[in-house]
Order: sequence, then structure tokens, then C-alpha cells
Amino acid sequence: MSDEQDASCLLDDLRSIIEDERRLFGDTLLFEQSPESQPANVERHAPPEAVNKPVIQPSRHIEYSMPPKKPVAVEEPLLFELPVSAKPPITTEAWGGSNTLDELNARICNCTKCALGATRTKFVFGVGNPKATLMLIGEAPGADEDAQGEPFVGRAGQLLNKILEAIHFKRSDVYICNILKCRPPNNRKPTPEESELCKPYLKKQIEIVKPKVILCLGLTAAENLLGTNESMGKLRGRVMQYEGVPVMITYHPAALLRNPNWKRPAWEDVQAVRKLHDELVADSTTAG
Ligand code: URA
Repeated sequence: MSDEQDASCLLDDLRSIIEDERRLFGDTLLFEQSPESQPANVERHAPPEAVNKPVIQPSRHIEYSMPPKKPVAVEEPLLFELPVSAKPPITTEAWGGSNTLDELNARICNCTKCALGATRTKFVFGVGNPKATLMLIGEAPGADEDAQGEPFVGRAGQLLNKILEAIHFKRSDVYICNILKCRPPNNRKPTPEESELCKPYLKKQIEIVKPKVILCLGLTAAENLLGTNESMGKLRGRVMQYEGVPVMITYHPAALLRNPNWKRPAWEDVQAVRKLHDELVADSTTAG
């Protein structure tokens, strides 16, 4: 085949390729791209007038322009509005130096040291007089407390308010908190791991408030604060110690709602607490 015939065959081939492409895509490009974003050696779809006179330039090739690729956004789970990776871990250094309850609360309220941090609605720090002479410690927030962010606001809390009134304390006179600051699902008992992780916060609250007496509400609170495994029958009526602070133990108000027979012994317990409290406050006043 002569060179002339060769060139003619090549031209025929090119024409048929271009015709095929026109049939498929028409005269316009599928994805427009600005001329400046085109590489210099790329020829876009051949314009119709060029179909009959294609210019063969070996270094060029026909290419359909594609839209620039967008970066794929990687979704990260959100815990507290910010992505998890943006949350600095809450180290003891970050909160251990807190001097007030508000400061401590602000520094630990996003805690995710245990899994309850992901399921709670609100962090339930504590409530009451920051200089209270009597501190009450319960087990963990329930559904009402989790929703409102305040300890003992449900039915057990209403009963606790009445118990306090009966010994001439207002709720706002005392400080109320729990072993755990977050609600365990279905109000299950705190696990030893959860209690251990949360206990430093409670220890710090006690250090800041400096109560004269602590009253543990229920066996779980006593077990976790004092590390005891004695029965309620053995613990009631005794004065134990936590970091040098006298501790008494009585029934949990929720237990009193379930078992009204325990109201009488609970009444004796809280009267004993009031007596011890008044003696210790009187002592500290005379001591100056
Ligand atoms: N029970 C508790 O132990 N604490 C609360 O705050 C509420 C119910």
C-alpha cells in the first residue's frame, strides 16, 4: 500500500471514530471544563468543521474532560458536638487543681472515661451548698436525674427532701451527689470499673466542700466509698471514716419507697446523723 493510500485509510478511520463519538455524545462535551484547566496537549472534542479536516498531531490525543474529583469527607462519630478526635482527654492534671465546685464541674462535665459518657443525657455533678457541713452521697443518677442534670429529683428525691425536712435541713443547706456522675443504662448497679474511674471526682468534691459528716444513702454508696462489704444491718448506727471525714450509712430512699418497714430504722439513722453533725459543728466553732 502506498503512503497516499495509507494516509487516506487513516483519515477514513479517524472520520468514522469521530462520527461514532458525535452519535454518542453530540457536539458538546459531557462535562465542561474551563479552558485554563485543560492541559496544553489535550484537544477537546473536535468541533464539527474540523471533522472533515482533522489535523494529525502525534503528540495530541482526544480526551473528554471530567469534573475535578471532590475530596471524600470521612464521617467521624460526634459525641458532644465536636468530633471525638477534637476532644482532649480529661487528665487528672486538667481538673485536679480545681479550687471550686463550679471549676471542677466545668472541667469534668464532658468526661468519657467510661462508656456511660456516651449514653448519658446529662452529667450529674452534684447540687447544694458548696460549704455544706452535711454531704449526702447516693449511688448514681436515675432517669429523672439524667434528664435534668441534678441528683435526687425523682420520687426518691422527693422522699429525701422530706427526710431532710424532718431533721430540720433544707435541701439547699446540704450538698448532694452520687458515686457515679452518669446514669447506668436501665439503672443497673455501677460496675467496680465505673466506680473506680468516677471516684476521684467524688474525692475532689469532698476535699472542696469539707463536710463535717457524710451520709451514705444505700449499701452501694457505702461499698464504693468505704470499700466495705458488710451488710446494712452491720453498718447502720456506726460512724466510719473516709479520708478523715466521719461517715454514717442508712437506707436508700428508693429502698424505703419499696419497703416502708425500713422507714423507722432510717428515721433513727438520720436523727443520729443530725446529732453527730451538730456536735461536730459545735466543736469546730469552739475550736475557732
Ligand atoms: N438514686 C440515686 O442514688 N441517686 C440519684 O441521684 C437518684 C436516685
